[in-house]
Amino acid sequence: MGQMIAIVGRPNVGKSTLFNRLTQSRTAIVDETAGTTRDRQYGRVDWNGKEFSIVDTGGWVVNSDDVFESEINKQVELAIEQADEILFVVDAMNGVTDLDDHVAEILRKSRKPVILVANKVDSNDWLYNVAEFYSLGLGDPYPVSAVSGFGTGDLLDEVVRKLPEKPADEEDQLDDIPKFAIVGRPNAGKSSIINAFIGEDRHIVTDIAGTTRDSIYTRYNKFGFDFYLVDTAGIRKKNKVQEDIEYYSVIRSIRSIEASDVCILMIDATRGIEAQDVSIFSLIQRNRKGLVVCVNKWDLVTDKSPQAIRHFEDTIRERFAPFTDFPILFTSALTKQRIYKVLETAVEVYGNRRRAVPTSQLNTVMLEAIAAYPPPANKGKYVKIKYVTMLKGAQIPTFIFFCNLPQWVKEPYRRYLENKIREHWDFSGTPINVYMREK
Ligand code: GDP
Ligand code: GDP
Repeated sequence: MGQMIAIVGRPNVGKSTLFNRLTQSRTAIVDETAGTTRDRQYGRVDWNGKEFSIVDTGGWVVNSDDVFESEINKQVELAIEQADEILFVVDAMNGVTDLDDHVAEILRKSRKPVILVANKVDSNDWLYNVAEFYSLGLGDPYPVSAVSGFGTGDLLDEVVRKLPEKPADEEDQLDDIPKFAIVGRPNAGKSSIINAFIGEDRHIVTDIAGTTRDSIYTRYNKFGFDFYLVDTAGIRKKNKVQEDIEYYSVIRSIRSIEASDVCILMIDATRGIEAQDVSIFSLIQRNRKGLVVCVNKWDLVTDKSPQAIRHFEDTIRERFAPFTDFPILFTSALTKQRIYKVLETAVEVYGNRRRAVPTSQLNTVMLEAIAAYPPPANKGKYVKIKYVTMLKGAQIPTFIFFCNLPQWVKEPYRRYLENKIREHWDFSGTPINVYMREK
């Protein structure tokens, strides 16, 4: 599972600017057209081969100057609970404030790795101000300027250095058994479906002992399926009040998604697709995980005609386009309708993620498809695709097409190839990679 770094600090110290600088993008996980929801800052970083995600928890609390201490508390608690490491940002132009003191105190007690970041050091003059942050008792302050980029390389070095050792073999031990995450917005029916899966008599096979935090994987053997459920919300000690707070649920979704192979995305049939569903979907996509969509509370829907079902399916695929090749099930966690089917489908998707098409078969089919519809010529030159192979040991099915001019094969043609692959072999529910390489 990926490591997560959370950025905390009071409003206006430059958290979101720093986030953008570190992830080098404006990454709103909510698609802008969906509207209403605030930016949720979530990005993935690869720094010298170490990969981790960064979350700006400030994106979830009200961003005004008279922020309540209680809101900061929530932000910081959330970071302590979920993150592997915390970046505590303060404002070097402003100096230490009461709120900074307050946050520092909570962080000191948490025993999480914390890096103190003194932001807005735009020039050397401001460096003198940085020393005053030693009073926070969190060690050396790291001077940076999120606006100019000063100090951010050193900061990332330190981030990587301080990352707790990954519970390395935990993931290895889990290898051959699928890991499922149940995700969806509050009240979609996540805990209900988990209860429907495992009921009162839980066939827990083992609990793998966690290292830095409690294990989030619990192994089940149910209906003949052996699988892990990823539990970051705490299936056993769920705090309903907290779970209803949107940003808690989003951070937990992120963690669950990162830790899983296949995500079971719960959608509330009585509400249809909303912005939050789309943003969770895009998190699943960005992490390249498998997907099964459950239109839940189907028992409450009166019109179950084939047209109504069709309409539901079309709407979902439209909102999730261009990725449309995934299973959609109509479930009721309450009456347990199609609960077995959900697990069966999730297991299938897991299988699809690991599907290996024999090279000869792959070439026969794909070279024919390419001959029928070759890549468009560019300035009188022709792209010739010679053969195709699957990359061994990749996270998800990865196809490599060898050709003379790989850079000339553009997105539409890659999509054509992907569609052909999906037509001929079952990759339902899983993203696939299509790469062009020079031969
Ligand atoms: P957040 O509320 O903590 O997320 O803070 P923002 O990232 O929204 O930044 C608050 C304000 O501080 C904005 O006007 C930023 O342009 C400004 N700011 C952020 N980083 C720097 C910096 O390194 N130097 C200066 N001078 N201003 C900064
Ligand atoms: P979570 O917040 O996603 O974990 O959602 P819950 O499992 O707590 O469910 C929220 C509410 O919806 C509860 O009152 C459930 O009883 C109800 N609920 C969940 N699934 C279904 C379903 O399939 N049908 C009906 N009628 N109610 C459901």
